[in-house]
Amino acid sequence: MDRQQEFILRSIEERDIRFIRLWFTDILGSLKSVSIAPAELEGAFAEGIGFDGSAIEGLARVHEADMIAKPDPSTFQVLPWRGESQGTARMFCDVFTPGGEPALVDPRNVLKRALNKAADHGLSFYTHPEIEFYLFKGPTADGTEPVPVDQAGYFDHVPRGTTHDFRRAAIGTLESMGISVEFSHHEAGPGQNEIDLRYADALTMADNIMTFRSVIKEVALEQDLYATFMPKPLNDHPGSGMHTHFSLFEGDQNAFHEAGGEYQLSKIARQFIAGLLKHAAEITAVTNQWVNSYKRIWGGAEAPAYVCWGHNNRSALIRVPMYKPGKGQSTRVEYRGLDSACNPYLAFALMLNAGMKGIEQGLELPEGADDNVWSLTDAERRAMGITRLPENLDAAISIMEDSELVAETLGEGVFDFFLRNKRQEWADYRSQVTPFELRRYLPLL
Ligand code: GLN
Ligand code: MG
Ligand code: MG
Ligand code: MG
Repeated sequence: MDRQQEFILRSIEERDIRFIRLWFTDILGSLKSVSIAPAELEGAFAEGIGFDGSAIEGLARVHEADMIAKPDPSTFQVLPWRGESQGTARMFCDVFTPGGEPALVDPRNVLKRALNKAADHGLSFYTHPEIEFYLFKGPTADGTEPVPVDQAGYFDHVPRGTTHDFRRAAIGTLESMGISVEFSHHEAGPGQNEIDLRYADALTMADNIMTFRSVIKEVALEQDLYATFMPKPLNDHPGSGMHTHFSLFEGDQNAFHEAGGEYQLSKIARQFIAGLLKHAAEITAVTNQWVNSYKRIWGGAEAPAYVCWGHNNRSALIRVPMYKPGKGQSTRVEYRGLDSACNPYLAFALMLNAGMKGIEQGLELPEGADDNVWSLTDAERRAMGITRLPENLDAAISIMEDSELVAETLGEGVFDFFLRNKRQEWADYRSQVTPFELRRYLPLL
């Protein structure tokens, strides 16, 4: 046992922790949890805890179902909502095969592989997500639209507002778990909120996002509300994106910054953006993985629809934020494609590898878009070389199927599982007769 593990065992005793939840994530980004007693923890550190991988989305085929989860001691945190006495703590796990090899199908491992590759070039990847979500009075099981908790809009300050209280409680819980919050505000939709997490390395951040989703759901339930990260829950209001700011660091220097470069961007930053643009359509099935995701990115409500970049242009897929003088270290780029319901491990791995391809291949950054690209005509966009993001899950899957980058990054097991799963989702969806069709056609035809 190392010192960190010993320290955890001691704090468990001192803080009266009775349950330790071992967390990991399936391929579609759902959190999985198994609880162990404190007495089991020493063994879990040494050998891991066995579980049936075939019962978890995409983790194993039935004939190789045994998998092992080993807790990562650096992720130990007490869950504040489980109370002070007889408490519960959690650790994220890495998944291993019975032979002791890291499981290639573990999303955390997918991201670690991408991070290690960048580390071979001396680079580390940092991200800062702006996470949007809706607060409703409750979920609806019958397919009718849920009722938002308020009718407020972007940055609205609502006296005695429900969402102030909600954000205050949620942020308090996050901070007590070591997750720093930078900004929070009411978003444009009724009941829609945004909370932005402080920059961290991409692995920590992906773990933080998984924790964030649980915290938001828990705090909402405590307040008799229902929180959802569904990408587009309401017909007439914006969807919930997870715009992600990112940069590469070389040691303690921001490798995206170059004093005097255009927009203070370095060559590496420009090549990275070029790589991301080139592969944007290929990675969309993962960054926007649900049928519903595509109802968000149709070309309005500040969600991207076209593959282009711009300086401070909020209609572009990639935005280079305004440079703040003297803040070279915080030079960063924003990818606006992701939605709040993606698997953050897989999405970050793909963003990173797409950008790294741009660096490896020395790709040139195409001309930036200054205009609002939504208001251009198709012909104008074509003339500027601006293509569209896939328009639905089916199109996104077709593009992903042929993507070397995605196959390489995810590895065969995840790639195959993901495609199979998503083809099925599309097949289920396309056979549905929707309320829209009934409303429109029944009176008419
Ligand atoms: N909700 C928008 C989206 O889906 C973003 C709005 C904003 O933050 N400007 O991407
Ligand atoms: Mg924001
Ligand atoms: Mg926002
Ligand atoms: Mg943003």
